[in-house]
Amino acid sequence: MEYLVEARGMKKHFPIRGGLLRKQLASVKAVDGINLAIKKGETIGLVGESGCGKTTAGRCILNLVPPTEGHVYYRMPAEERKRLVGLEDQLARMIEENSDGKSKEAVEKEIEEIQDKFALDRRNQEELRKLRQFMQIVFQDPFSSLNPRMLIRDIVGEPLLVHGVARGEELRERTTALLEKVGLNPEHLYRFPHEFSGGQRQRIGIARAFALNPDFVVLDEPTSALDVSVQAQILNLLNDLQAEFGLSYLFISHDLSTIKYMCDSINVMYLGKVVEFASKDELFRKPLHPYTEALLSVIPVPDPDLRRDRIVLAGDIPSPANPPTGCRFHTRCRYREAICEQKDPPLTDRGGGHLVACHFR
Ligand code: SF4
Repeated sequence: MEYLVEARGMKKHFPIRGGLLRKQLASVKAVDGINLAIKKGETIGLVGESGCGKTTAGRCILNLVPPTEGHVYYRMPAEERKRLVGLEDQLARMIEENSDGKSKEAVEKEIEEIQDKFALDRRNQEELRKLRQFMQIVFQDPFSSLNPRMLIRDIVGEPLLVHGVARGEELRERTTALLEKVGLNPEHLYRFPHEFSGGQRQRIGIARAFALNPDFVVLDEPTSALDVSVQAQILNLLNDLQAEFGLSYLFISHDLSTIKYMCDSINVMYLGKVVEFASKDELFRKPLHPYTEALLSVIPVPDPDLRRDRIVLAGDIPSPANPPTGCRFHTRCRYREAICEQKDPPLTDRGGGHLVACHFR
């Protein structure tokens, strides 16, 4: 099975500094050890409440903010991935059994060699700059992500110019074609961002992100700043572009209805960790984690006669600087028992590729 992008054990901790010497006092554990793998042509969802770390995870995957721990692999061939997984398992066993230092060093060296070849954080600035052509992001707020002083011609054409892909007449032609692809007209080339509606601005953001023919795009809440009537148009545009170019998406959203419409498989994130992963059909048919169950219970249904028990989560999401002990969800979980406060449940396969982090599900 070949993955285009894969994050393994990815963590991002931001230091909290204080005092005269700006010493590190604590850290915000925005992302705390997640695994995500995305195949070619697939859309993987990342869903959770505001502040759960999903946006930071999206930026780490693109190495826009380097992970504190773990690695993101890009275009790693299937046989190399198999080797890496085998070596990591072997190393974990050796550490557990406290076995001999020499063979452990050899295994670590082999892992390092694979990381040197495929991990994004091992690339130098020039290599990263080249790779960025193929890994793009569409931001949530289309207005603040576009430079208000630049013409649309320059905003959309800039990546082509910076990467030396086109200039002069060819640049103008390609920029025009990009605008047409996202449903805008050539006359829009000579306008500024403030002259457009929210939906049109997001189309411009998409044209810019797709200018260099990427194969992987992070869609960070691409429709949440838009009117409901425009959201469907943007989602359909993204689906059309994916079908035409065989792109892989990481779709980040707090809205499960949008996630359901767009994604093949879904990761549910809570306080820096993935608590459930399943295919879309499996997750909506049978949510297992109590957090997912609560999220699904509040999705609006278009049938006024249908009565559903809404599960209201008490309290706010705890601070990622000081997450609860044991299961992070125990402060809000209606099924919690004594063990939940003491032991953090690992993400465990419950069959059919459905992974859940809960002691009782
Ligand atoms: Fe709830 Fe306990 Fe499961 Fe955590 S481990 S989700 S607290 S039942």
